[in-house]
Amino acid sequence: MKWMLLLVMSTIFVQNESCSQKKTPAAMENKKNNPAYSRTDTSKVVMKDEEWKNILSPDVYYIAREKGTERPFTSPFETSKEIGTYYCAVCGNPLFKSDTKFESGCGWPSFYQPISKTSIIYLPDNTLGMQRTEVECGRCKSHLGHVFEDGPPPTGLRYCINGVVLDFEKAKAAEKKYDEKKKG
Ligand SMILES: [Zn+2]
Repeated sequence: MKWMLLLVMSTIFVQNESCSQKKTPAAMENKKNNPAYSRTDTSKVVMKDEEWKNILSPDVYYIAREKGTERPFTSPFETSKEIGTYYCAVCGNPLFKSDTKFESGCGWPSFYQPISKTSIIYLPDNTLGMQRTEVECGRCKSHLGHVFEDGPPPTGLRYCINGVVLDFEKAKAAEKKYDEKKKG
């Protein structure tokens, strides 16, 4: 009996230990064991939903593959003013630059222009009794959000994107990596 009590106690200890550690952001978890994730590979990613389910965290899977929507005002990216690049958290495809980001007040990170024409795929979405345009990642076809025509100049567009499927890298960090690459 004594050894069992010890076992239970040590299990509790181990659990507490892992809880006290800082939670890894969803995007970070997704990069591990994700063969599709690359910031440089531009080839299309085609994987079955069952495969994605094994790779992605449940919240990313729900939005990216089941076209879910995160609760408004929950993404730290919504109000972030940091300078850098937003990538697809599922595959690493560059999607938006921070200088095209604006505060729309709608509750989700908003941009007026994607990085390139191939960053995004547009699809008609007539669900929920509305006529909307869905936006998907141009590389892995993950659901990102919707685009609306009430954005600021110069495009007049508002890309309303779920923060959960975004992966952000600060410009400075990117620069440093680039320099290291050049040297190496
Ligand atoms: Zn993607």
